[in-house]
Amino acid sequence: MIKVEDLSYQYETKGNPVLNGISLEIQKGAYVGVIGPNGCGKTTFVRHLNGLLTPTAGEVWVEGMNTRDTAVVQEIRQRVGMVFQNPDNQIVGMSVEEDVAFGPGNLRLPPLEIRKRVEESLAVVGMEKYAQRPPHNLSSGEKQLVAIAGVLAMRPECIVLDEPTTYLDPSARERVLEVVAGLNTQGMTIVHVTHDMDEIAQADEVVVLHEGRIALRGRPSEVFTRVEWLRGLGVGIPRVTEVLWRLRQGGVDVRTDIFALEDACLELAALIRPRTG
Ligand code: ADP
Repeated sequence: MIKVEDLSYQYETKGNPVLNGISLEIQKGAYVGVIGPNGCGKTTFVRHLNGLLTPTAGEVWVEGMNTRDTAVVQEIRQRVGMVFQNPDNQIVGMSVEEDVAFGPGNLRLPPLEIRKRVEESLAVVGMEKYAQRPPHNLSSGEKQLVAIAGVLAMRPECIVLDEPTTYLDPSARERVLEVVAGLNTQGMTIVHVTHDMDEIAQADEVVVLHEGRIALRGRPSEVFTRVEWLRGLGVGIPRVTEVLWRLRQGGVDVRTDIFALEDACLELAALIRPRTG
């Protein structure tokens, strides 16, 4: 769905390139996590995926369309939606409904189609009861769900989320992650930048950026098992993996290629049971 070819990028105000020769293909329906230390270029990278930034060198293709081609940039932005860190910066409407209608309104769709899309999108994120509410009165988590609904109303094929849970409390975070996982199950391609490794423990692929390059990419089991290397880069690992890893360092014979709480519980239960039983 997305092909990145030898992408480099330099901000005009910055002496050195921020991205250095990144090549990557993102398959339709994949869930790709993007991690790396602060300032390694994650945001700069994902802003290339829908043409918000265009490469200084190299190319980015979205379903065969080059993001440099101004004639198709609108189409690219419709296919690849962005959800940003701060939900307050994404709200444009006076009501939730108006906010979600903003994107399809720009596409000049017929009013009935817009209404249908708004209703459907709000239902997907579980915010249909809030349609008439002024968005500025919502919690950060609710605003982020409205922002996702706004993206969904464009009927995208891919959603890029750039640290979408930073300003959310744990239960709101959980809801947003559930919605995103549900969308992926329905076939939506997801690119998810995060600091929190637990959030992408279930991703199909994890891309580790370091100093504007891909330092490593692979399945979570290939990436998160390299605990000391990740720590050296200043990147964490999923919490349950950390617990198992520390137990192993302490001489306990447990697997460390486990990233989900349920699997960790099974592993630990199997360890404890013979002693108690
Ligand atoms: P990350 O998302 O991994 O924290 P960013 O892509 O935000 O990294 O930033 C990468 C580097 O680019 C940082 O050194 C940052 O200071 C710089 N940078 C980001 N945005 C701009 C900008 N608009 N102008 C100049 N430099 C920028």
